[in-house]
Amino acid sequence: MKKRLILFAASAVIITALIPGTANAQTPLPAAVTVLDCGRLLDVRTGKIERDQRIVIEGERIVAVGASQQTEAPAQSLHIDLRQVTCLPGLLDMHTHLADSDGTGNYSAAGPLQLSGAEVAFRSIPHARATLAAGFTTVRDVGTFRAFTDVALRDAIDKGIVDGPRIVPAGAYVTISGGAGAITGLAPDIVLPLDLRFGQADGADQVRQRVREIIRHGAGVIKVLATGAVLTLHSQPGAQEFSYDELRAAVEEAGKAGLKVACHAHGAAGAKDAIRAGVASIEHGSFLDDEALRMMKERGTFLVADLYDDEVILQRAGKSPDEYIEKEKIAGQSQIRVTQRALAMGVRIAFGTDAAVIPHGDNGKQFAVYVKYGFTPIKAIQTATIEAADLLGWADRVGAVEKGKFADIIAVRENPLENIATLEHMAFVMKGGKVYRNETR
Ligand SMILES: [Zn+2]
Repeated sequence: MKKRLILFAASAVIITALIPGTANAQTPLPAAVTVLDCGRLLDVRTGKIERDQRIVIEGERIVAVGASQQTEAPAQSLHIDLRQVTCLPGLLDMHTHLADSDGTGNYSAAGPLQLSGAEVAFRSIPHARATLAAGFTTVRDVGTFRAFTDVALRDAIDKGIVDGPRIVPAGAYVTISGGAGAITGLAPDIVLPLDLRFGQADGADQVRQRVREIIRHGAGVIKVLATGAVLTLHSQPGAQEFSYDELRAAVEEAGKAGLKVACHAHGAAGAKDAIRAGVASIEHGSFLDDEALRMMKERGTFLVADLYDDEVILQRAGKSPDEYIEKEKIAGQSQIRVTQRALAMGVRIAFGTDAAVIPHGDNGKQFAVYVKYGFTPIKAIQTATIEAADLLGWADRVGAVEKGKFADIIAVRENPLENIATLEHMAFVMKGGKVYRNETR
């Protein structure tokens, strides 16, 4: 994660064929073609490792994938030699907070008040870079206290100003007054400026209005908080906050704009109202009961299981408020049991780390945690590829190495089905046909 990113350079590749005299000033040059020769390629749908595969990339898209001998490399293509490593699609993390803390555990209630929007934005740049260098080429960023810094980060990345993953940003937390997504612990006469309480809403009408505003300012997903939280002062994770009507209003307004809703919920009652209201995913889900899991299975609601952050939070005993540690001891253990139950019942699970709680760039450490608690290696990888792509509604563009999809491709030194921890150290990272990291040479 701390290793320097290596920018794409022509010297990094071998130009295989140069055909002179075919282009002149009047003829536009053909689109740049890059060819990856992969010693091994993991098919994330079947869990099979295919040997000696070739991926042909034009611009930012994959145009062909197949056995090296049968897949022609066009003239004037740039070859990248990945014969010593295992390639797989770029990873997806469905629960990050890039425009938030740096993961070192500064949970002061007043923390968000000490930084201007510009400071938050600049500080998010290394977070985005570390996430991409860790092989996560797409993230769903589910909230920032300073509204729309995540939207600004997405736009800066899309324009090529900043290196980072594709971002689907929430813009602001939609939360009740004093709720799990609010800045709490302040004296009652303190009135926050609008962009530190942009998504605060009480009653279905206010929820509609706030969701409309958040969409108007560029959000790609709506984040609602249906119950209390572990890392919010004076908040009880099991307690319901938004009512069914409020949650339904959020889902309806988001749906009109083609957006999905991600719902923070620890307690079962709040989660069930959110599932009935039609949210796309339950985040955390620490105290879900079997009824809630059955409802999720029936409706295809995803569980976004952030299991690795438990040990990270507990390591901060003595540094974080005692209230957080006490709540995490109960919620963390319960969340492991609920996730195992969800896995056994066939509830769809998507990979999410709550990065910001863990250091940005450590996202890949969660794979080994998933496997420790009973996921097969391929199942763990699917939560961060094809499953997450489905949750985003982006199955047509990310999550697999297939013709027509973005050329978001990573490589690791070992076979991840044999050693899942190899996903913690990227040898190669490409996003949209551009190489951001290459340590295979
Ligand atoms: Zn979170």
